[in-house]
Amino acid sequence: MKIPLIAGNWKMNKTPTQAAEFAELLKQAKLPENVEVLICPPFTALSAVKKIINGTPIKLGAQNMHWETKGAFTGEISGEFLQDLGCEYVILGHSERRQYFYETDEIINKKIQTALKLNIKPIFCVGELLSERETDKTFDVIKKQLSSGLNNIEHINAITIAYEPVWAIGTGKTATPKQASEVHKFIRTMIKDKYGENASQDTRILYGGSVTPENIDDLMTENEIDGVLVGGASLKIDSFLRIINFKRTALQ
Ligand code: PEP
Repeated sequence: MKIPLIAGNWKMNKTPTQAAEFAELLKQAKLPENVEVLICPPFTALSAVKKIINGTPIKLGAQNMHWETKGAFTGEISGEFLQDLGCEYVILGHSERRQYFYETDEIINKKIQTALKLNIKPIFCVGELLSERETDKTFDVIKKQLSSGLNNIEHINAITIAYEPVWAIGTGKTATPKQASEVHKFIRTMIKDKYGENASQDTRILYGGSVTPENIDDLMTENEIDGVLVGGASLKIDSFLRIINFKRTALQ
């Protein structure tokens, strides 16, 4: 059985001081043993947060990285820096990176390859726009994003996939557990075709998009959902803790 992953993506929120305060509260809380908890603060807060969560089971991740490890890329952050700071995970291909920073599937693929070489686990995000869902293009979009992102990648074992329908991110509109499950199944079949049955069963597929304390239990009750990537609701300790302590009505 896969251990569920509950990941908080803080986006461009929290100063290093605020991030450290949150990390302290999370560290003091009693966390369930059978759940992996990950926080992804902004780059500037990684070091302060790491100092606090060091030696605890709470994992640290970054929200992006460059595909090169060093060089003349003013303003960019290398995976080697993240490694040095103790990041175990990195979010790649988030829709906000695709939309506002013009990241293409090819760029995302290069980043995934570099992260893997550095032993940083990518959380690879895919998801369709509302217009694409409304015109029945969801599966085509996911297929293209997934196959391009995983191009030339031999093993999927260190990769987590996050299905994040763009229309559900930060909008308060969540995909229904059934909608999410349908896409997760599709993703799992694609993984099976490329990497085999075992790999497809072992790969964690997260759902992301307006996850809240109110909808987490229903989402996590779906067999296909192996965890969640949480934006807004991961910024407040009470809501994040409630999400971490989700209740499945039917255990896998
Ligand atoms: C996200 O940023 O990955 C996300 C899912 O955001 P929100 O939970 O706020 O929709």
